[in-house]
Amino acid sequence: MKYQHTREESAEYLRLALPLMSSQNAAFHPVSYAVWYEYVAGMNNALKLAADSLLSQRAPLGEDDIATLFERYVADVDDKLMSKFITGFQQAMSDISESTAATAQEAHTFDGLLQTFATEYSRAPQSLDLHALRAGAAVMQTSMRALQIQLDQSQSEIQNLRLEVARARDASRLDGLTGLTNRIGFEHKLEACLSGEQTAANSPCLLMCDIDHFKQINDTYGHLFGDKVIRAVAGIIKENVKGRDTAARFGGEEFIILLPDTSLQGAHALAEQIRRAIERGRIKRGNQNETIARVTVSIGVARHQPGESPSGFIDRADQALYAAKQGGRNRVSLAAAA
Ligand code: GH3
Ligand code: MG
Ligand code: MG
Repeated sequence: MKYQHTREESAEYLRLALPLMSSQNAAFHPVSYAVWYEYVAGMNNALKLAADSLLSQRAPLGEDDIATLFERYVADVDDKLMSKFITGFQQAMSDISESTAATAQEAHTFDGLLQTFATEYSRAPQSLDLHALRAGAAVMQTSMRALQIQLDQSQSEIQNLRLEVARARDASRLDGLTGLTNRIGFEHKLEACLSGEQTAANSPCLLMCDIDHFKQINDTYGHLFGDKVIRAVAGIIKENVKGRDTAARFGGEEFIILLPDTSLQGAHALAEQIRRAIERGRIKRGNQNETIARVTVSIGVARHQPGESPSGFIDRADQALYAAKQGGRNRVSLAAAA
């Protein structure tokens, strides 16, 4: 299922979705709830962009707008896209096969012409009519050229379809609020990473990072400001994570970072660097120039062990994070071996 949120998180999204839903003209049905749920959960970047653009043109949105948003961005995009891809591919194949058949027919005619020509040549070499041969070769050439054009066209159509599928897949793996990879995208990355060759010397590390006392930030300054804090923390994580590393928003105010081929000391050092950068950062509130109390994070670090499943690996990083919270927050803690 695409909704992986906890009961607590989904209750939060319900709270956020209701006012959005009630400020539109569309009724309170499951279709409209699905749209606003995905919108506030930050799990559907394409939907968020489309809805924001519609809202800026003609809020409040009516039934038709909501139905369109649902159909285009919430209903199973993969299925629709896949069927578009298959239809497009079939069309390209059928165009190619039509052109190939036409060219084969021309080749057959041309072959007949050559045979007649050969027979006549052996009978009376002096009285050959070269015009007929030339005309036959010209027809053949035109047909070959048409086939080449058709092949080029089909190839570029298929290439466009492939790009479209890749774009849709990437969009569905991004978090709408922060632009980081989302949880689904991260899980794909982790699985791909762990399915590669693993040795004790090149195993990956995970950093599990959670904003401290975030509920208090929301309660004191409001949810919108809470979102700003999440984006700011994501920005600092992005600045510190490079190359083959993957940083993702794992849930509400939780981030996860995959470091392929990194020692535990290296991962620990990076975690400390991120923790300190966030502690140093100052976030301003709206146009009031007030700077809020500092934002801190706790981080758990784990190194993958031979044979460990993706979820076992994440669990150990999570336990280390829990230990960092228990130890007083704003600190990094290393996972014990399983
Ligand atoms: P701890 O230091 O133990 O992590 O405490 P905490 O308050 O950060 O932890 P808790 O899990 O109790 O609270 C997390 C809160 O994050 C709950 C929820 O209201 C809020 N939250 C989750 N997702 C979002 C979001 O996208 N935006 C905002 N503004 N708040 C969110
Ligand atoms: Mg949390
Ligand atoms: Mg927290």
